Amino acid sequence: VSGAPTDPIQLARLLLAQSLGREGDALVLENETRESVLTSLRASRDAAPAVAVDETVLSNGERRVVGSDGARTDSRVRDAEIYEAPDLSALAALVSGCSRCALHSTRKNAVFGEGAADARVVCVGEAPGAREDETGRPFVGRAGKLLDRLLRSIGLPRESVYICNVLKSRPPNNRDPLPEEVTACSPYLLRQLALIQPEVIIAFGAFASRALLETKSALGRMRGRVHEYAGYPVVVTYHPAALLRNPGWTRPTWEDLQIVRRLLDGEGPLG
Ligand code: SF4
Repeated sequence: VSGAPTDPIQLARLLLAQSLGREGDALVLENETRESVLTSLRASRDAAPAVAVDETVLSNGERRVVGSDGARTDSRVRDAEIYEAPDLSALAALVSGCSRCALHSTRKNAVFGEGAADARVVCVGEAPGAREDETGRPFVGRAGKLLDRLLRSIGLPRESVYICNVLKSRPPNNRDPLPEEVTACSPYLLRQLALIQPEVIIAFGAFASRALLETKSALGRMRGRVHEYAGYPVVVTYHPAALLRNPGWTRPTWEDLQIVRRLLDGEGPLG
């Protein structure tokens, strides 16, 4: 082949195209072997300047990365940015522009969470549903009202606790979150907890409980005792939406919340 390109990437493309019509490791370019093309590619990669020469976080949480090849936007938030967020507002700004998993492309609103920044109790559900996705708020609608009543039954007005979900974006059609989505999103929850430093976490529903406790156990087997997540005590109970469908679970839920009350009062979990 005469006039072979000198750009290593062009060379590699040509090598690949020619390889598709050849057997084995034969010489495929005039004066170039497969090894020499690979060596060029490695050298070009090692010599390449860092793409990002300047970064700016935009007001919507996206990051504009300006490199030697011009301006482009990269909105993938890095773990370090999450763990270094100085407060809940800064963390919420990161979530609003987050594209760490595919759910960002189908959500209407990210649902970061809300409540007292110094709450003694953090309530954690599974993921936003349709109403939450519409409003950008966690635990709204009938299930949210029932949650408010449950919390009041142990002397905790909604505004005194912090309420959020494992996932901050709604899975389409309310399907179960995927493991990779939980992995991508969990640093946000960990940072929320580190900033709030609650005395107790209440995990509402089987999914949130399993995600926090990294188990596949049935909810019924996890109830009635105190677990731990990232060093925080965790009490597991039914999700208010499940209670609306199965009012018979109201009594066990109330019993679980009594464990929370006893923990807050400095008593043993079983009284
Ligand atoms: S679910 Fe979490 S990780 Fe995925 S896009 Fe939403 S905020 Fe980002």
